[in-house]
Amino acid sequence: MLSNIAARDVETLIHPYTNLSTFRETGSLVLERGHGVWVYDSDGRPYLEGMSGLWCTALGYSNEELVEAAAEQMGKLPFAHLFSGRSHDPAIELAETLKELMPVPTSKIFFTSSGSEANDAQIKLLWYMNNALGRPLKKKIIGRRKGYHGVTVATASLTGLPANHTDWDLPIPGFLHAACPHHYRGAEPGESEEAFSERLAAELEAQILAEDPETVAAFFVEPVMGAGGAIVPPAGYFAAIQPVLERYEVRLVADEVICGFGRLGTWFGSEALGIRPHTLSFAKALTSGYLPLGGISIDEPLYRAMLDESVKLGGFGHGTTYSGHPVACAVANRALHIYRRDRIVERAAEKAPHFQAKLASLADHPLVGEARGIGLIGGIELVADKGDKRQYAPKAGVAARCVAFAQDEGLIVRFLMGDRIAVCPPLVIETDEIDTLFERLRRALDRTAAWIAHEGLE
Ligand code: PMP
Repeated sequence: MLSNIAARDVETLIHPYTNLSTFRETGSLVLERGHGVWVYDSDGRPYLEGMSGLWCTALGYSNEELVEAAAEQMGKLPFAHLFSGRSHDPAIELAETLKELMPVPTSKIFFTSSGSEANDAQIKLLWYMNNALGRPLKKKIIGRRKGYHGVTVATASLTGLPANHTDWDLPIPGFLHAACPHHYRGAEPGESEEAFSERLAAELEAQILAEDPETVAAFFVEPVMGAGGAIVPPAGYFAAIQPVLERYEVRLVADEVICGFGRLGTWFGSEALGIRPHTLSFAKALTSGYLPLGGISIDEPLYRAMLDESVKLGGFGHGTTYSGHPVACAVANRALHIYRRDRIVERAAEKAPHFQAKLASLADHPLVGEARGIGLIGGIELVADKGDKRQYAPKAGVAARCVAFAQDEGLIVRFLMGDRIAVCPPLVIETDEIDTLFERLRRALDRTAAWIAHEGLE
């Protein structure tokens, strides 16, 4: 029996990324408030938010300074746009700070309201740039299987997950996918991480050559793949692929929507993993998720090409109403101030070894095939047989069941395709809360194992 509020929800809302049929029976978890790393449901029950909402509430809940920043800006100038040469101080200040923080040479910042829009803008600007440079064929974009870059027509095409393609008539032409850099699943028996990385780089090169390098514009990467399973690339991966991209003038775009702003213990994931992208996309933790805001960095060559096109066409034909929304920018400015003042990124790096040790300790659980992460993010993969890495049938929904048990234990984590579970707590999590998180996750795993035995799953 659904509670009154859950029943109202089922009757009225379409939920993103939700099984619309089973949802009618299970109903929703209706959250009411949050404090620190904790959220509370409509019955007042607390949950440790082990996913930072959707990989975004890095500064935790109830941060009064962010609330104040929003209220102040709301009172002063709740809306102003950046079209046709109009501007406002919060956007200018934010662009200046971001330029300083960017791990790559950056000429300008362009704002969007989400990660999807940021990557969509990247794709459009790559096409625009290559037209400006007189190479109209250089337009194909390569992503990776299990990569996630958003849900617009172009970014869902770039995403490498079946759920985003099947029955959506996607990917559209011009979007290709390279192999997923997941050593646990993709390596040959006995193949080292470095050898696996070299092999993937050779495969990427063969793919670019087969397509014709004159037609390939860019390669998109998440430093750590998020929605595809919280997958950490193998050692040497970026060192191996970057020379391939350089050889064929294929630009590298880092999708830092999850990894940006401290998640890997560095300001950007690119720094932690030795990635040297031309441009990068960011969103989520920029405002700690308190308001929608994303954006991209633009390097000098791209900016020059945009200027030339602007001269030729008499303007720049792209932008959305809320690009650089002043309230969102004011919150982001305050968030970045907090990150710096409270050493949020450095402290995330200090807490990371403890977090990673706790994560790795789950590998001794009979259900856990892989437990791997970096910084304050990690993923575990559930298997039926640790020896041959065989999984339970997808329809058994083992990871989904485990996540439901975790919720019952007062912990929010997220299941992903392939019986993987992601953990990505607010960066402000304290050591004792990390302990609580992993104790609860282990109990959920135990209950899942008991349920599997009871159901006789094989
Ligand atoms: N890129 C990455 C790496 C993401 O994780 C996400 C969202 N989870 C997106 C892009 C899309 O962002 P949004 O949902 O804000 O459109």
